[in-house]
Amino acid sequence: MPVLVMKFGGTSVANLDRIRRAAKRVGVEVAKGYDVIVIVSAMSGETNKLVGYVDETSPLYDAREYDAVVSSGENVTAGLMALTLQEMDVPARSWQGWQVPLKTTSAHSQARIEEIPTDNINAKFGEGMRVAVVAGFQGISEEGRITTLGRGGSDTTAVAFAAAFDAERCDIYTDVDGVYTTDPRVCQKARKLDKIAFEEMLELASLGAKVLQTRSVELAMRYKVKLRVLSSFEEQSDEAGTLVCDEEEIMESNVVSGVAFSRDEAKMTLLSVADRPGIASIIFGCLSDAGVNVDMIVQNISEDGRTDMTYSLPTDQVKRADQALAELKSSGGLNFAELVIDEDVAKVSVVGIGMRSQSGVAAKMFKVLSDEGINIKVITTSEIKISVLVDRKYLELAVQALHDAFELEKA
Ligand code: ADP
Ligand code: ASP
Ligand code: MG
Repeated sequence: MPVLVMKFGGTSVANLDRIRRAAKRVGVEVAKGYDVIVIVSAMSGETNKLVGYVDETSPLYDAREYDAVVSSGENVTAGLMALTLQEMDVPARSWQGWQVPLKTTSAHSQARIEEIPTDNINAKFGEGMRVAVVAGFQGISEEGRITTLGRGGSDTTAVAFAAAFDAERCDIYTDVDGVYTTDPRVCQKARKLDKIAFEEMLELASLGAKVLQTRSVELAMRYKVKLRVLSSFEEQSDEAGTLVCDEEEIMESNVVSGVAFSRDEAKMTLLSVADRPGIASIIFGCLSDAGVNVDMIVQNISEDGRTDMTYSLPTDQVKRADQALAELKSSGGLNFAELVIDEDVAKVSVVGIGMRSQSGVAAKMFKVLSDEGINIKVITTSEIKISVLVDRKYLELAVQALHDAFELEKA
């Protein structure tokens, strides 16, 4: 029988009522003749609560134990979903990641999927089971430890299962009815897109649009998974939601197709480091060893053989970065005058494949921000995106002004 993957995010399984609603939707697909793999997130708020427990217990935690704790939310919803389906007379059972076993790297808290054996679940489908409910976000490392795939990782579990089982489609059910030109919670004029190209979705996701985890889009692109984002709260037709697809399948395209943002950014500046070969390698090697994900990097012009190095990173990694650099300094590995930390910044980006062939987008973006009196702190660009770091208090204003200026409310 054809296989369908259906993923339900946190708000879609937030309580027993919602789980029943999601299960009914699964029942509809089973009745159509599909064998269904359901991937569930933890109930909304649950993972944040677990992360909070870990942070309070051990601020510079052992990531293996972090994973042991934060992966547990999904176990509850997987079991409850299987029970709900059984109550509806749909043959179903649950799997935790290790039972599949979903094998991952040992990069705890941001592990990558290496393999999903299909025999175990297929054997059960062969025996008449119709729904395999799998706990999203989690797997097992070669060392036999529980791993997690990074926040939002259930999306990636879903796409990886769709690829492994050659599913007809991977439907991501969430609390919005598709992918919008920007987060509809921040900009009322945001417009739902019927289709979006993999490349654009990849940029939007990696720049902060959390509707899909970045890695899930990468996998869908690589394994040609038919990926759809839709609402679990509305009645759905087969055309509902947003299809993430190849560029060639999209007729019209604005130069800018979306605005993404990331609220919890911080900026650190190392004042007066030596301007000589090897310094950047020492600084960013040290940060990488400490598990810090550096994003934007700017090196100032040098004066008297010294320079300043600025970089951005997620706010929750500031402590780690600060400590790693302080240790490097005290061990004589790096000399700098001061480490200046700004924890009140946000990143705003415009994305569009049309930028490849049209110039002037950066100039327009900077003019819009300047007209609103918003100072730009750091800029980076790539072929299809421009990102700026601004004070966090201007985030909403910047997103709305850019959405207006690039007329994203119009198709
Ligand atoms: P789930 O719990 O279902 O995985 P998430 O909270 O991870 O849901 O992702 C859905 C949220 O993503 C939406 O509620 C919305 O606020 C946010 N979002 C950010 N950017 C976009 C966008 N461009 N289109 C749609 N939603 C977006
Ligand atoms: N529950 C996890 C999180 O909140 C994974 C997910 O929902 O995708 O990040
Ligand atoms: Mg999510």
